[in-house]
Amino acid sequence: MDSSQLHVAILSSPGMGHLIPVLVLGNRLATHHNIKVTILAITTSSSSAETEFLKKSNGKKTIEIIPVPSVDISHLIDSSTKVFTQLRLLVREALPGIRSVIASMNHRPDSLIVDIFCTQILPIAEEFNIPKYAYHPTTAWTISLALYCQVFDKEIEGEYVDLKEPLKIPGCKALRVDDVVDPLLDRSDQQYEEYIKLGMEYASFDGILINTWEDLEPETIKALRNNDKLRSVLKVPDFPIYPIGPLRRTIETTERDEVIQWLDKQNHESVLYVSFGSGGTLSSQQIIELAWGLELSQQKFVWVIRPPCDGDADSAYFNSAEKEMREYLPEGFLTRTKDMGLVVPMWAKQVEILGHSSVGGFLSHCGWNSTVESLTNGVPMIAWPLYAEQKMNAAMLAEEVGVAIRPEILPAKKVVRREEIEGMVRMLMQTNEGKGIREKAKKLKMSAENALNEGGSSCNSICELVKDIRSRLL
Ligand code: UDP
Repeated sequence: MDSSQLHVAILSSPGMGHLIPVLVLGNRLATHHNIKVTILAITTSSSSAETEFLKKSNGKKTIEIIPVPSVDISHLIDSSTKVFTQLRLLVREALPGIRSVIASMNHRPDSLIVDIFCTQILPIAEEFNIPKYAYHPTTAWTISLALYCQVFDKEIEGEYVDLKEPLKIPGCKALRVDDVVDPLLDRSDQQYEEYIKLGMEYASFDGILINTWEDLEPETIKALRNNDKLRSVLKVPDFPIYPIGPLRRTIETTERDEVIQWLDKQNHESVLYVSFGSGGTLSSQQIIELAWGLELSQQKFVWVIRPPCDGDADSAYFNSAEKEMREYLPEGFLTRTKDMGLVVPMWAKQVEILGHSSVGGFLSHCGWNSTVESLTNGVPMIAWPLYAEQKMNAAMLAEEVGVAIRPEILPAKKVVRREEIEGMVRMLMQTNEGKGIREKAKKLKMSAENALNEGGSSCNSICELVKDIRSRLL
C-alpha cells in the first residue's frame, strides 16, 4: 500500500442482510477509488451462510476482512427480546473487541463507516479522532423516520399504533401507522428506546450514506437535506446525505446449480421467485396457504422455503433449523407441482436467480437488499413485508414507485388466503396490468444503472464522499 492511499474501515453488524451491503460498498470503494478497505465484520456463531460468505469474500484481493468474534449476550436477553434489541446488544458488547482491533492496526483508518446497528461506535471513533460516516443500507424514507422520531417522541402521546392519522415527516410520503417500523409498535419495549437512540446517534456522524438514488426518492432526499425542523430538534447544523445506491452484489459464480439449470429450460419471464430473505419465516398456516396459492395460480415458481415458525416472523434471524419439507407443506404438494416449480430449502443463489431471464416476478419480504436486487434486474414484485422496515419498503414500492402489488391485509398480522395469493400471482404474471408494472420495473432498472454510471447521481455522490474523507485527513 502506498502511503497516500486512503484507508477506510467499514464495520458491519451481524446477519447476511448487513454483511452483504457492507461488502458491496467496500468493493466499490476499493475498485473504483483505489482505497484500502478493511471490513470489521461482527459475526454470529449460528449462521453457516454468513461463515461461508465471509470465507469466500476473504479470498478477494481488494479488501481485507477481519471477523470480530461473536459475543455472548444470553445474560442480557430473554425469549421476549426483539431482534432489533438483540442486534444493538450484540454490537454494544462487541465494542471493546472492536476498539482493540482498531487500536492494534498499523495503519489506523482515515475514516470509519459503520452500518445501521453499529452507530454505537461513536465514542471509539471520537477517542481515536477518526472521521465517521453512517451507512444506512435502505431508503431515504426510513432514515427520515429514524431521525425524525425524536420529534414524534416528544409530540405524540400514547402508542403510535393507536393514532387515527398517518405520521407526517415534512416533505415525505405520509406513513400509515400500520406500516411503521417494528421498534415503534410498542413504546414500552426496549427496542423503542434503542430506535430513538439510533436516530440520535445517526445525527452525530459526519455524513450519512444511503443505499438509494436520487431518481427513486427525489422528494424525500430533498426533504431530508432541507429539513430545518429536524436540524433544530437534533441540534446539529448539518448532516450531509450521500445517496450512493443502488449498491448490490453482482453475479459471483459461473457454476450452474440445479435451480439455474431448471430456469434455463423455462420460458422468458415466466417464473415467479418466492423468498423471504435470510431470516424471514411464515406461520404453519401461512405456508399452507402460500403453497395452495402458488399451485392454484398454475404459474411456474422457485420457492426458497424455511420451516414454519408460529412466533415472530424474524425469529429465525439467529437460528434457522432445517426440517423435512413434507412435514409442513400440504400433502402431495411437491408431487403435484413437480413440473411447475422448484422448492429450495433454506438458501438459494438469489442474485443469479433474479438475474435470470426466465424470472418475471418476485414475491418478496421486501428486505432492502432483495428489493434492490429485484429492481436492478427489472423484476416487478409482490410485496409481502414481514418485519423491520419492510412495510415501509412495500408501501413505497407499491404506492409511490408502482413496481409492486401488495396483499389487502398485512401478512405480518393476518394470514393471506390462497385465493388472494392466486389472484396476485396471476395479476402480476399473466395480465396486461402486470405487464404495465413490469415495464415500470424495467424503466427503473435503467434509472438505477444511470445513477451508478460515470456522471450519474450516485457515482457523483460516492466521489463527494471520498473527497470529504480526504479533506478531513489530519
Ligand atoms: N439471500 C440469498 N439467498 C437466499 C436468501 C437471501 O442470496 O436464499 C440474500 C439476498 O440476495 C440478499 C440478502 O440475502 O442479498 C438478504 O437481505 P435482505 O435485505 O433482502 O433481507 P434480510 O435477510 O436482511 O431480511
